[in-house]
Amino acid sequence: MSRIIALAVAAVLAPLAAAAEPCPGNPQALGTERVIEVDAKTMPRVGRKHFPSTLPLQRKELVLTFDDGPWPGTTPKVLDALKHECVRATFFLLGKNAEANPQFARRALAEAHSVGHHTYSHPLLDHMPLAKAEAEINHGIEEDEYAVYGQRRTDPITPFFRFPGFASNRALLDRMSERGIVVFGADVWASDWLPMSPDQQLRLILARIEQVGRGIVLFHDTKAQTAQMLPPFLHELKRRGYRIVHVVPAGSRGVLN
Ligand SMILES: [Zn+2]
Repeated sequence: MSRIIALAVAAVLAPLAAAAEPCPGNPQALGTERVIEVDAKTMPRVGRKHFPSTLPLQRKELVLTFDDGPWPGTTPKVLDALKHECVRATFFLLGKNAEANPQFARRALAEAHSVGHHTYSHPLLDHMPLAKAEAEINHGIEEDEYAVYGQRRTDPITPFFRFPGFASNRALLDRMSERGIVVFGADVWASDWLPMSPDQQLRLILARIEQVGRGIVLFHDTKAQTAQMLPPFLHELKRRGYRIVHVVPAGSRGVLN
């Protein structure tokens, strides 16, 4: 009996015990601890700022997300910082920015980040007629897919979406769910739309992360203050014992590669 319990405990602990893979050139890297698959059937909406539940994360596990890019100057710096620490994140692209800067969108994919969607031009969709709102969503997905994969389609390879300004409504949430697209909210955000120094930004987001203890973190890779504070931020997460979880669509390879 005790052996069965021991095996059961080992099975539960196994995912936690998986250490991040070695990071070339940086033995002290934060790394990516594990990968979880997210499926709209079981997790249609995640992030406790606006929804009742979030991703199944352990204490001190974080999922890093970046909205509104890709943007020249800042997105490459964000990608450099993530690469240096072997951290995988999720980028919610704006279609018009992916159209203008496809090379950075492709780089995000090439460096094994997840590439989700965030409309074409960032309007608030909650008070728009449903058909118009969905056309805006689809236009964004089409441009993102063309930038990243060279094919225009409204059925995205990575069915992850975040509403601009979190402005959704019941009809739109139902549509996304029917389409098998996971809607990402957030558990904590950096408020990096407010101008502040990189140092202020760093202190603010670390304090908020300490408060929530785990969850989906929202940044904007279009912001210079965020790009600048990212290297010390990742370093500090490691020092404080936080671990990074990468989210991928269901059916993707759930392993680090
Ligand atoms: Zn946005």
